[in-house]
Amino acid sequence: MDSIDLSPEQFRSLSQRVLEIAVDYLEGIDDRAIPASGSGSEIQRILQSPLPETGLGEQAVDELHRVARHSRAQNARFFAYVMGSGEVAAASSDLLCSVLNQNVTIWRSSPAGVTIERMVVDWLSQALGCRGFSGTLTSGGSSANLMGLAMAREAKAPANEKGVRGTPPVAIYASTEVHMSIPKAIALLGIGRENLRMIPVDDRYRINLQKLEETILHDQASGIVPVAVVASAGTVNTGAIDPLPQLSEIARRYGAWLHVDGSYGALAAIAAPGKFPGLQLADSLSLDPHKWLYQPLDCGGLLYRDVSAARSAFAHTADYVRALNKDPIEAYAFFEESMELSRRFRALKLWFSLRYHGLAAFRHAIHKDLQHAERLGSLIAQTPELRLEAPISLSALCFRYIGNGNLPDGQLDAINLEILRRVIARGRVYLSNATLQSKFCLRACIVNHRTTDADIDAVLTEVLAAAKEVYQQAQ
Ligand SMILES: *Cc1c(COP(=O)(O)O)cnc(C)c1O
Repeated sequence: MDSIDLSPEQFRSLSQRVLEIAVDYLEGIDDRAIPASGSGSEIQRILQSPLPETGLGEQAVDELHRVARHSRAQNARFFAYVMGSGEVAAASSDLLCSVLNQNVTIWRSSPAGVTIERMVVDWLSQALGCRGFSGTLTSGGSSANLMGLAMAREAKAPANEKGVRGTPPVAIYASTEVHMSIPKAIALLGIGRENLRMIPVDDRYRINLQKLEETILHDQASGIVPVAVVASAGTVNTGAIDPLPQLSEIARRYGAWLHVDGSYGALAAIAAPGKFPGLQLADSLSLDPHKWLYQPLDCGGLLYRDVSAARSAFAHTADYVRALNKDPIEAYAFFEESMELSRRFRALKLWFSLRYHGLAAFRHAIHKDLQHAERLGSLIAQTPELRLEAPISLSALCFRYIGNGNLPDGQLDAINLEILRRVIARGRVYLSNATLQSKFCLRACIVNHRTTDADIDAVLTEVLAAAKEVYQQAQ
């Protein structure tokens, strides 16, 4: 029976072959159609194989070509969801991360890993104007939101020991535009989604402060504890940024925690700090370097003002772990400030990518995304058949095809859905959708360091070409 241990020479030649596949993929992405290359069952047929009892060797490498070919091509014209573009200097260091196989739990497990992650967290805090915040990297914004709300709950209505049954009734407040990971976190924490108060938004899709305060007062009168106000720093639909200074004031007035979900937008503060006044007032702030710092998945993060709040929420450590070491650096343990124990060395790619390119290059790329959003906005404004459905706060645009302007909304929903299907099927541009005031909108979100002006212009061309197809079909 063969050993699974490769010699350094075998590893070198294998890695070089894998690298060639990665380079081929990169060279080809711009010419390829973006969406899935076939139906679910077609791709299943291509990739399905029996569990091999004996090793396939070289043949296994060849199969990686096929995996790349049937992956969605995340090129310069991919504008759906909030999908970062996978900066490849970071990707190149990811192999080293796996080879080093450090477990970033505590300093002695990963001396370089713990040191670098703590430094990168500090860099992120500085870059966002939140100097002095601590934090950890996470798998993404969802886990950062869960951790932020776990900290809020433990600070305002502790339940780690006795469970939620022992606490008074609680509520959490957020706008109707809040990301789905927030109700999910509230459900997982045992607070119950019914206790998320969804506050209406203004005409710029920001939380209505008066309604928020009325709701908190109403709850307080019936003995409900306001645990947290969740602000969005970039809603997922339109990129709206809730008024953070006022939210901080309200949260403080009623004794609630302020959690800012910056998973989409917060990192844009690197390029446009003026859009995010009050970011540093957050008690906890989630962000996603795998979105607007273009890092390969996965790389999220949670920053917080008060380390002891993180420890109250997450430390549950047997004494023997600490007793070994009294040195403050060497005794540092991420698992006392995170829900994770075993953790990948996520900081390596981010650290390498920031050092390789420099923060100025990222600031420039983010700035370009913001400008591209403005460019697309003016192209839409100049096109009578299209209408922008929300103001542009960051880099997400919601718009509709309206034809000659005389069609009823219900019919426009169906037409725009069909346009979206066809835009995607045409393969050159990839958009997603959003529902605003019950209207089905096309949505483009630009967090892509590869995008050029011509790629932005292609959105317009493709949407209009798809609309033409829809009308031809109808006749
Ligand atoms: C993407 C996103 C999340 C979730 O982040 P993941 O990294 O996908 O887990 C949460 N909130 C907002 C506003 C987002 O855009």
